[in-house]
Amino acid sequence: MTVYNFSAGPAMLPAAVMERAKAEFCDYKGCGNGIVELSHRGKLFTEVIENAEKNFREIMNISDDYAVCFVQGGASMQFCMLAMNLLEKGKSADYADTGVWGAKAFKEAKLFGDAKLVCSSKETKYDHIPAFDTWTRNPEATYLHITSNNTVAGTQYMKFPEVLPNVPMIADMSSDIMSRRINVSDFGMIYAGAQKNLGPSGMAVVIIRKDLAARTPATVPTMLRYSTYIDEKSLFNTPPTFAIYLFGLVTEWVKEIGGLDKLEIINNQKAARLYAAIDGSEFYKSPVAKADRSRMNVVFRTPNEELDAAFVKEAAAANLTGLKGHRLVGGLRASIYNAMPMAGVEALIGFMNEFERKNR
Ligand SMILES: *Cc1c(COP(=O)(O)O)cnc(C)c1O
Repeated sequence: MTVYNFSAGPAMLPAAVMERAKAEFCDYKGCGNGIVELSHRGKLFTEVIENAEKNFREIMNISDDYAVCFVQGGASMQFCMLAMNLLEKGKSADYADTGVWGAKAFKEAKLFGDAKLVCSSKETKYDHIPAFDTWTRNPEATYLHITSNNTVAGTQYMKFPEVLPNVPMIADMSSDIMSRRINVSDFGMIYAGAQKNLGPSGMAVVIIRKDLAARTPATVPTMLRYSTYIDEKSLFNTPPTFAIYLFGLVTEWVKEIGGLDKLEIINNQKAARLYAAIDGSEFYKSPVAKADRSRMNVVFRTPNEELDAAFVKEAAAANLTGLKGHRLVGGLRASIYNAMPMAGVEALIGFMNEFERKNR
């Protein structure tokens, strides 16, 4: 029985990855111990973490100017950690308010220094990304923070803002990392909680330009300093070994199916099919500005809340789960990350048509 899980996160992982993890769980490569029982300093795990990083660098085309770090605490920990490390004294950080996650990041930054909003679409429930020429940017900002894909509202940057000299751009890419080709060197730092496109929850993957880590004030604790993760290759203490292992399997899967160029095409096709089904009906509506619609989180609704609730319930009974919209926006949301196959999207569209026919 196939259950398609449309949850925003933790999200479904590729079936091939789950099968392989199952096979290796109790006996990793014939060593007699399971993967979670291996020393983080032993030969077998060293290979796991090194391969995971190597694959990720290859897939994302990350240059040697950048470090890749595995940090516990998820993306939300990065909200404070990045400000503690990178928000320079006497300067101010710029934040784009395009969704609830970006707003949370902004709130944390203000605990450690000065931060300002360059734009906000909060008044219209974050239904669009404000046009870049309306942003009030500070050319002296210590950094600019954006959220590349807004998981809750269902918007995504199709293009990124211009990089101003001396203003590194930092992006929370939790919900669209490794789903499309991006130019890493346009960013000072990229981070992502793993549980959407990379693996299990509890870990963030951080790509940081090495020179930026030198900014960190001396008072920041060891475990919260990027330099600790860079210098110790994420092995200062015991890292989340299982999360790193699964992330490594996901990177192998991405390589096998043809890398980001291929994935991006598939992701675009999946989203196009689903939005076409929504736009082609009088029954379903998307509240999101067309130009900014996310290819990862498709937010939509039926004519009323009772029908939304019935949709979620009946879809689950038809093995299509996790379709309830975020509690802040209501309605419906289908998260179609890398691991969601086209067959899952087609099953959802089939269900939508049937539901509309019965309730129109
Ligand atoms: C899910 C998500 C987060 C939060 O991730 P945690 O790992 O739960 O802290 C932050 N930002 C974005 C864009 C997300 O989608």
